[in-house]
Amino acid sequence: MDLDALYQEVIVDHNRSPRNFGKLSDFNCKAEGFNPLCGDRLTVYLKVNADDVIEDIRFEGEGCAISTASASLMTESLKGQPTSRAEELFGGFHDLVTGSAAGSAGKLGKLAVLEGVRAFPSRVKCATLCWHAVQSALRGKASASTE
Ligand code: ZN
Repeated sequence: MDLDALYQEVIVDHNRSPRNFGKLSDFNCKAEGFNPLCGDRLTVYLKVNADDVIEDIRFEGEGCAISTASASLMTESLKGQPTSRAEELFGGFHDLVTGSAAGSAGKLGKLAVLEGVRAFPSRVKCATLCWHAVQSALRGKASASTE
């Protein structure tokens, strides 16, 4: 199996059975994200503790396979991480999918499976929507739009 096929399989799997999907009952940060180009909509819920660590994170919503898989992978990456790490990962992930920092994939772990979207500029917003929503939630804003 080549790398592309493996990546594809991970994305299909996370779209079919998204991790951390559904509303979080005990949250203190929340934001909605909307990508009008594709129609993806999602809401992220975070529970951030007094030490600024993301204790729990979930998402719900409807979107294309890329937006759902990306949100699923994101929740796995962010759970248990300090909020400062979330900002860092978003920066790295954004660079990865926009192609502005080739070679950053190694630091991103499983998120690197979405590297392929850089060949499809219209899908970059699908992949980054969940991250914009998390950033808004952490900054106390209620919503994020890719436009
Ligand atoms: Zn989409």
